Amino acid sequence: MTAAIVVQNVCKYFGAFCALDHVHLEIQAGEFFALLGPNGAGKTTLIHTIAGLSVADSGSIHVMGNHVTKQYRQARMRLGIVPQELVFDPFFTVRETLKIQSGYYGISDNGAWIDEIIARLGLADKADTNMRALSGGMKRRVMVAQALVHKPPVIILDEPTAGVDVELRQSLWDFIRELNVAGHTIVLTTHYLEEAEALCNRIAMLKQGKVIALNSMQNFISTMSVGYTLRLRLLPD
Ligand code: ADP
Repeated sequence: MTAAIVVQNVCKYFGAFCALDHVHLEIQAGEFFALLGPNGAGKTTLIHTIAGLSVADSGSIHVMGNHVTKQYRQARMRLGIVPQELVFDPFFTVRETLKIQSGYYGISDNGAWIDEIIARLGLADKADTNMRALSGGMKRRVMVAQALVHKPPVIILDEPTAGVDVELRQSLWDFIRELNVAGHTIVLTTHYLEEAEALCNRIAMLKQGKVIALNSMQNFISTMSVGYTLRLRLLPD
């Protein structure tokens, strides 16, 4: 098996506060992996360090064999991240936004792929609309599209369905599942256990910056059914 993401002994501090506490994690190529945990557990901090958006204080992270800080560009080319926040320039259209993102990766000839993502994410009739005129759900679709412009083998989604309507949730998951079947490694953070249960083959549970459980989804569910109260305690939301 090829490792898509290797996190070794990673610690991250904000001042004296330890947000990631000696995290070890290995995610294989082709996995659909969930990072679960209550609010404040360190999920976003961990994926930001994996994506090189935040630098770990110790330890090392590799994405498809590339060291995230020493080979930042190579690592970033192999990874697409869908952030929780909606980050965009309001004055560009959807298509322009995606072209600018391609330019960031040095790609100028992927118009056909951009059209395909636009169509697949139900954005075709909004392609020439300014970002500021889109609904929240549509903006979220563009965030997903942005993460895919360079066809990254690894795709990380941070709470992608939080606050999203049921229809978008379903079409988003259908698309992400297809990408996984096509060979992309998918990592998602969520605090919806049922979402992870429906989609993922393996999970890590984070609590107070530590990985407290790492299991196949099947084993995780059987452990959970033994202790429903444990499930409630770990996933208060
Ligand atoms: P999760 O994604 O699991 O909800 P986060 O990774 O966002 O958790 O946060 C983990 C902890 O780190 C929280 O206690 C949060 O307040 C803290 N934290 C996150 N980012 C910062 C920051 N930039 N400065 C200070 N504390 C932070």
